[in-house]
Amino acid sequence: MPSDQWPPLSPMQTGLRGRCPRCGQGHLFDGFLKLRPKCEVCGLDYSFADPADGPAFFVMMFVCIPAVAFALWLEIAYQPPFWIHLVTTLPLVLLTCIPPLQPLKGWLVASQFFYKAEEGRLARPKEADKSA
Ligand SMILES: [Zn+2]
Repeated sequence: MPSDQWPPLSPMQTGLRGRCPRCGQGHLFDGFLKLRPKCEVCGLDYSFADPADGPAFFVMMFVCIPAVAFALWLEIAYQPPFWIHLVTTLPLVLLTCIPPLQPLKGWLVASQFFYKAEEGRLARPKEADKSA
């Protein structure tokens, strides 16, 4: 099946579930955050995918900073013994930072495929003349 005959699938549908952004059936991950080389169902090559630090950035900005703010508030407001942080803050930080990484990475990879995002390239002078 040619690649232009696949129906467009929402990055939210496929990426958050860790599915192939083209067919929605194959798996995206080979492990927790490592991508497979290609889709086992439709054969889509995942080499285009490069979310870089995107998942970590979103987790840090929207989850880790509030969790650390909670830890600071707890310390300043109550000055609890250290073990209170071990049973409240540490699990909070781990549970809010690690689980969202895979769905966020899947969503970013699926969005790269859906919006055909890639590194910018300078057009050669001949190509620029044709488009003008
Ligand atoms: Zn696929």
